[in-house]
Amino acid sequence: ARAQAMEVDASPEVTYDDIGGIDEQVREVREAVEDPLERPDMFREVGIDPPSGVLLYGPPGTGKTMLAKAVANHTDATFIKMAGSELVRKFIGEGSRLVRDLFELAKEREPAVIFIDEIDAVASKRTDSKTSGDAEVQRTMMQLLNEMDGFDERGEIRIIAATNRFDMLDEAILRPGRFDRLIEVPKPDAAGRAHILDIHTRDMQLAGDVDTTEVAADLDGYSGADLASLATEAGMFAIRDGRTDVTHEDFLAAKEKLAEDDSVEVPGLD
Ligand code: ATP
Repeated sequence: ARAQAMEVDASPEVTYDDIGGIDEQVREVREAVEDPLERPDMFREVGIDPPSGVLLYGPPGTGKTMLAKAVANHTDATFIKMAGSELVRKFIGEGSRLVRDLFELAKEREPAVIFIDEIDAVASKRTDSKTSGDAEVQRTMMQLLNEMDGFDERGEIRIIAATNRFDMLDEAILRPGRFDRLIEVPKPDAAGRAHILDIHTRDMQLAGDVDTTEVAADLDGYSGADLASLATEAGMFAIRDGRTDVTHEDFLAAKEKLAEDDSVEVPGLD
């Protein structure tokens, strides 16, 4: 069960250069995760505890997972991912068991970055704690908090969680010593979108008429993931046309297609 529920990557390939439009967030994550891993003595000398856990919150597809992978890559740490939804299990005790396995595995593989995606699945404000399902989820969350309280903050395991539903979170997980470093990862602005588009088109042959700044200008509401799809779709239009270079026209066609597919949620369009 362990292998199925967790994704383990001894050397993730994502680098900071692959991440666009959220420079400030990259800086904050590096400060919260890299420094404690690489210079624990600094914290000892200054006499403070580094942030315990980092919580990334914001809309889907904005680069939260990439950030966690990049920081693991940069610190030569093993990346261990678990989805919060995986921790919600049918049988009593199964969720807690997985949490224990998760931290055990991290100890075996340290230095390690634990990434818990969709943390809201196990850490929502209690809706109706009388139902047994909720009680079980609650126990899983308590186990997670216990593990976090139990490990050495200056040790070689860092924990990052992510959510799209910050408003739903139980405040218990945000207390000092738990997820005490909050970093909002928003959708990119126009300049950020252009940067992300540059990243996702850097291996493509762009025709001379392509201006990524212009393409990105009116894509309000696009996430990084949407921009990655846009680049792929534009490439598909070129291929359909038997070309290897991708033109401005291809990007316009791709934009239209994504809007039709409704795969991009643009505010104010519905
Ligand atoms: P979710 O909340 O849905 O898990 P997420 O915020 O973790 O989403 P990622 O998994 O990091 O999003 O991003 C998905 C894909 O979208 C990435 O693999 C990448 O191709 C692209 N992407 C997202 N954000 C960025 C970004 N800031 N810069 C470059 N590419 C991005």
